[in-house]
Amino acid sequence: MDNYENLDVIGQGSFGLIRKVRRKSDGRILVRKEIDYSKMSEKEKKQLVSEVNILRELRHPNIVRYYERFVDRPGSRIFIVMEWCEGGDLAGIIKQCKKENKRIPEDVVWNLLTQLLLALQECHHGGTSFNSSSGDGKTTTTSHPTILHRDIKPDNVFLDGAQNVKLGDFGLSRIIANPDVDFAKTFVGTPFYMSPELVSETSYNTKSDIWALGCLIYELCALEPPFQAKTQAGLTQKIQQGRIDPLPSQYSSELMATIKAMLNVNYMKRPSTTEFLKLHRIRMCIKERA
Ligand code: ADP
Ligand code: MG
Repeated sequence: MDNYENLDVIGQGSFGLIRKVRRKSDGRILVRKEIDYSKMSEKEKKQLVSEVNILRELRHPNIVRYYERFVDRPGSRIFIVMEWCEGGDLAGIIKQCKKENKRIPEDVVWNLLTQLLLALQECHHGGTSFNSSSGDGKTTTTSHPTILHRDIKPDNVFLDGAQNVKLGDFGLSRIIANPDVDFAKTFVGTPFYMSPELVSETSYNTKSDIWALGCLIYELCALEPPFQAKTQAGLTQKIQQGRIDPLPSQYSSELMATIKAMLNVNYMKRPSTTEFLKLHRIRMCIKERA
């Protein structure tokens, strides 16, 4: 802890403050998330340990980078030091667009989608698309079990200072050993983005993250979530029907079709990240960024 100098508080997490810190060794600005576990049940504490372990495993340009953690046992707190995303989060961007009556340009939307697909690909399929070459010419593939994010929403997608998207807040995420048989039970995320399989069976799989991503991309365009209702029952019905209003006219039918594919009510027919990453438009985005 002495290696960092405390700077401004930048956010309020569900379990404590989030503040900017300066690493004394090199002056680098990082973020420290404080989590008070004193009121957590044993189960929640286990979940917390698993969040930290998940973060450690995930090293990807589109996932908020974890650096280290400290446990303050007397204070029942854990501190996680991570990358600072100075561009804020997508919820802020959506709010600003609404206020100024602006739309996010379509090429920006495709770009955001591409980066989030790459982040999810890493979570779901252990970075199988990311072989990094080491000096001796050998390729190493990072691998870890399937990780479900389970809370993809505008507040949990961050931006750094260079237009890079970073998926963050893995507080509700879960590691599953076998994604095909072991469904993560119990719903924990944002109700607006709840997928049909959750509404009906309360099971969560990799495709549920895809559904939430579809909701997010829709909201980036429409500045409203695709499914809204005043009651939970009304919302459930809308989600199960899966009908969405058309996007504002400036957006292409290609984008609408991609969102519709992510919002396929039948999760078996909903494509995986691997399939979306094969789309021509997405491949072009990856090429441009390289
Ligand atoms: P919670 O689990 O409570 O939702 P989050 O990790 O989503 O916590 O953080 C809450 C808020 O703190 C975010 O919406 C954001 O404003 C800010 N924040 C969190 N992490 C970062 C980061 N790495 N860089 C910049 N801001 C962050
Ligand atoms: Mg959050």
